[in-house]
Amino acid sequence: MFRKRDRMIQIKTDAEIERMRAAGLVVGRTLETLREAAVAGVSTLELDRLAESTIRAAGAVPSFKGYQPHPAVPPFPASICASINDEVVHGIPGERALREGDVISIDCGAVLDGWHGDAATTVAVGEVPEPVRELLRVCEESMWRGFAAARPGGKVSDISHAVESYVRAQGTFGIVEEYGGHGIGTEMHQEPHVLNYGRPGRGPKLVRGLVLAVEPMLTLGGRHTRELADHWTVATTDGSVAAHFEHTFTVTEDGPWVLTALDGGRARMAALGVTAG
Ligand code: MG
Ligand code: MG
Repeated sequence: MFRKRDRMIQIKTDAEIERMRAAGLVVGRTLETLREAAVAGVSTLELDRLAESTIRAAGAVPSFKGYQPHPAVPPFPASICASINDEVVHGIPGERALREGDVISIDCGAVLDGWHGDAATTVAVGEVPEPVRELLRVCEESMWRGFAAARPGGKVSDISHAVESYVRAQGTFGIVEEYGGHGIGTEMHQEPHVLNYGRPGRGPKLVRGLVLAVEPMLTLGGRHTRELADHWTVATTDGSVAAHFEHTFTVTEDGPWVLTALDGGRARMAALGVTAG
């Protein structure tokens, strides 16, 4: 989603982080439900309805619905972004049904008691070719590598660098540059912007109470994207398949705490030899 540039970095208290964890769990549980529901024959509109009912049943509100970054763009009409195959992000749910061999990126946001969670996952519908499976694996793992690189006292671009370094070491994937991660708190999009590439040691300091969404977007081809006529859907220019993963996390002295992951990120962090906060 678009970001607002004119806001300060919001540092959260421990009590506020707990409230963001509650919002994050709503998002995490909704995405788990959607992952299981994303099978051949199901339309993206059906996934959207399932998302909205799951979010509202938890006492939260879908933050994407009605989201309007500026007046020239129509408000986003749904609770999830559903982006299929060459669509990268911001796809609008509709009658299109998933087919065997598709990949769908599902992006989901919710606000609970004024605090936001934001996460995304890309699901393979049935069997997909090996290069596509690898695309999804590398995209998700690059996100976890980004969290693992986020140490108190470091800088935001340490995350960017970890994402890019991992992706480059795995093959020739396109890293989308027009969109990236962001601060998150009492608004869905806050400063700072979190690039998915770049040199380490730059940007704002990583401090306790900083909450960021990290969201790499990779393609099997080039990095360039275009916006479709609906003013929202972003697709690859070359038609190549794309993947998108996202979690909201916070920096702690004990390690990253992934607020939208059901286990807080413990298992994936442990696999990288990093303790989770
Ligand atoms: Mg998102
Ligand atoms: Mg986001």
